[in-house]
Amino acid sequence: METLPTELQTLVDLIERYPQLHARTLAKVEFKNYRYPVISVELGAKGCDVPCVLFVGGVHGVEVIGIQVIMALLESILSRLEWDSQLQLLLTKIKLAFVPIVNPVGLLNGTRCNGQRVDLMRNAPIEAETKVTFLVGGQKLSSHLPWYRGHQGVEQETQALIQYVEQLKTNSSSLISLDAHSGFGMTDHIWFPFAGSNRQIQSLGQIHYLEQLYHASYPHHRHYSFSPQSLIYRTHGDIWDYLATPKNDKSFLPLTLEMGSWSWVKKNPRQVFNFAGLFNPQKQHRQVRTLRKHTVLMHFLMDLAASRELENMNLELLLKQNSAALNRWFRC
Ligand SMILES: [Zn+2]
Repeated sequence: METLPTELQTLVDLIERYPQLHARTLAKVEFKNYRYPVISVELGAKGCDVPCVLFVGGVHGVEVIGIQVIMALLESILSRLEWDSQLQLLLTKIKLAFVPIVNPVGLLNGTRCNGQRVDLMRNAPIEAETKVTFLVGGQKLSSHLPWYRGHQGVEQETQALIQYVEQLKTNSSSLISLDAHSGFGMTDHIWFPFAGSNRQIQSLGQIHYLEQLYHASYPHHRHYSFSPQSLIYRTHGDIWDYLATPKNDKSFLPLTLEMGSWSWVKKNPRQVFNFAGLFNPQKQHRQVRTLRKHTVLMHFLMDLAASRELENMNLELLLKQNSAALNRWFRC
């Protein structure tokens, strides 16, 4: 029996310990004669007429802190559900879904890519409509360079996530997703599609309103910079671009949390000599602080979904938010 990476073993243990978790194996990824599962878990309300919030981590295996942030939320919710009647009530109104480790082999190997050296966030079947950032935007030159898009079509892990999100979209009244990454910049970013085009996502007005509500609700937690990803850098094959492409899909808000890891490196420069150190806090107090830092945002997303405030925006509010968003992010 192969030893699973720690975070994957923790997930398997949670599923055994909490029978109310509805777990599914979305894919089994073979690597060195062992098959590593991509697992989803769900809890909360059932039925197609409830909002859903999805938390995703580990698309890039080396970005362990993203997996840990998502797992810490899941563990906290499971523990609190034993006594917290407010949380129990909340979960009668929404469905929660988690895919904490999209790329188990990347986690095992401590790499950004999967076992085939493919960067899953450059591997979705979608081409950028504008010129992409050189190399970082995704490349098919060599699997030995980073940001490799692959030559064999869509990888198993990418396909598993795409199919799962499409099912959630179909089976929920609305879907907010938060995909946790780390490794870019000094500050924490919240990005949304598109990464490969100047177009506006259908739910642009809702995303702008979400940010406004978050800032009004938590004025002392304004450490996120919200923007379309195309304003930062452009890429091919972004999974969330692909999923946000269908028209008239106003009830899907795919958000990416990009934790600014350069600030950890700045405070502890020796981290640059360790590959994982470029993407994860190495000192324990900094890791704990990071796990704490995003709790408010994640609970806000759950509360917001349960309120159906975004689903019930009237036309006037929607137009106002949409025009504010256009002015802010898309004015030439
Ligand atoms: Zn990443």
